[in-house]
Amino acid sequence: HADIAMYRAKKLGRNNVQFYEPTMNEEARERLRIESALRSALERQEFVLHYQPQVDVQSGRVVGMEALLRWQHPELGMVAPHRFIGLAEETGLIVEIGAWVLREACSQARAWIDAGFGALRIAVNLSPRQFGEPQLVSSIAEVLRQTGLPPACLDIELTEGLFMHDVTQAVELLHKLKSLGLALSIDDFGTGYSSFSYLRHFPIDVLKIDRSFVSDIGDGDEAAIVVSIIALAHNLKLRVIAEGVETASQLDCLRRNGCDEIQGYYFSPALPAADFEQLLIQGRTLQEPLAHPA
Ligand code: C2E
Ligand code: MG
Ligand code: MG
Ligand code: MG
Repeated sequence: HADIAMYRAKKLGRNNVQFYEPTMNEEARERLRIESALRSALERQEFVLHYQPQVDVQSGRVVGMEALLRWQHPELGMVAPHRFIGLAEETGLIVEIGAWVLREACSQARAWIDAGFGALRIAVNLSPRQFGEPQLVSSIAEVLRQTGLPPACLDIELTEGLFMHDVTQAVELLHKLKSLGLALSIDDFGTGYSSFSYLRHFPIDVLKIDRSFVSDIGDGDEAAIVVSIIALAHNLKLRVIAEGVETASQLDCLRRNGCDEIQGYYFSPALPAADFEQLLIQGRTLQEPLAHPA
């Protein structure tokens, strides 16, 4: 675990790190330490959400946002999710953290909708561990009730890996989720165990094209995969969102091929709530990407 090693490196000082070979016991202890660090992070409210705009390609307007988790660590500073989500998943703490994320994201979305910024959609990532929780459907229903967020404004992001184990059970669960009135997205589409057959059977609404395919746009005919995914999505009557859009030429290609929405640094990275709100107030559109000269 690179993040554990770094944590330790900070404590030991630089020179010791490369000679350090942790034993299983020490790893287990370290894991416990991280687990308790994550738990106290929850208690001390060190988790924050950043919000990345999702922009409609046709109108150029912000139509939603993805909630992305960060850990505001007292010493390490802002910690990105790849450094702790895996451990949170392994220890099961992701269930509690995820419950916090959902509540926070829904109440923030409700506040922005109430403030008059339109029927914004909020996308929330769901981890495999959460997907396996018996209380999942009722806890989402409860959050929707408590926050008063219109269910249609909630978009739950799932990854393809979830559908591997018990397909029948997964389909059943997805239908239960859908019955709450929310939308379901497949995140990082194309990177998982892509048996396309599940797409016909599963009640999903959105495909999110993985960033890796978007970044290939421009290398000769590498746009072929993106173009195919857009066509596939539309044939199945699904909305399609491109992730990780960084350049005007990527946007151009996506627009020409009918992609519905984009998300990416070209328009904006994920922002703290106050900055995201400024962006809503400014009403900036895709036609005026301030930071990017034509
Ligand atoms: P994801 O759900 O696929 O989220 C998209 C990631 O791509 C985000 O990274 C986002 O900041 C980054 N990104 C967006 N636009 C661009 C771009 O133009 N270029 C590049 N290079 N990157 C871009 P982030 O925030 O570090 O999150 C990483 C992953 O951590 C997420 O991938 C998601 O799988 C997971 N994650 C984040 N928040 C949560 C959460 O609340 N719960 C769970 N279970 N997982 C989460
Ligand atoms: Mg996501
Ligand atoms: Mg993704
Ligand atoms: Mg990802």
